[in-house]
Amino acid sequence: MLFKKKKIERQVFLERKVLDSILSYCQMKHPNEGILILKGKSKQGNIVINGLVIPPFNYTGPTFAGFPHSFLPFDMSYVGIVHSHPSGSAKPSVTDLHNFFGLVSLIVKSPYDENNIFAWDSNGDSVNLSIV
Ligand SMILES: [Zn+2]
Repeated sequence: MLFKKKKIERQVFLERKVLDSILSYCQMKHPNEGILILKGKSKQGNIVINGLVIPPFNYTGPTFAGFPHSFLPFDMSYVGIVHSHPSGSAKPSVTDLHNFFGLVSLIVKSPYDENNIFAWDSNGDSVNLSIV
C-alpha cells in the first residue's frame, strides 16, 4: 500500500512589529547577511510569527549566514528562521535548503522593505505570507 501524504497548504502570518524588527536588523547587518530565529505557533498549517531570537554563536558574511543548531535549546516555539540576502534574489539557495530549520524560512532581500520579504518551505516552494 502506498502512503500518500496530503499536502498541507501552509500560510504564514507575520506580526507587523516583528517584520519591523527583522527589516531594521537586516539593514543594520548590511552588506552582510543577518539571521534570526522566528518564534511563534503553528496550527493546521497556519504559522503565526510573533517574536524573534538572535541565534547564539551566529556567523555571517556577504553570502552566508548560519548558526550551530546544536547550541539551540529545544523549544517548540521556534518555527523557523529568517535571513537576508544583501544581493540577488530572495530565493533560497541550495545551502539554505540544506540548513533548513523548523517549518518555514523567510528571506529578505535588499532594500529590506515589506515588499522584499518572502516565505519558503523546506522544498524551496513559496508559501503565502501575510503581514498582520
Ligand atoms: Zn540564503
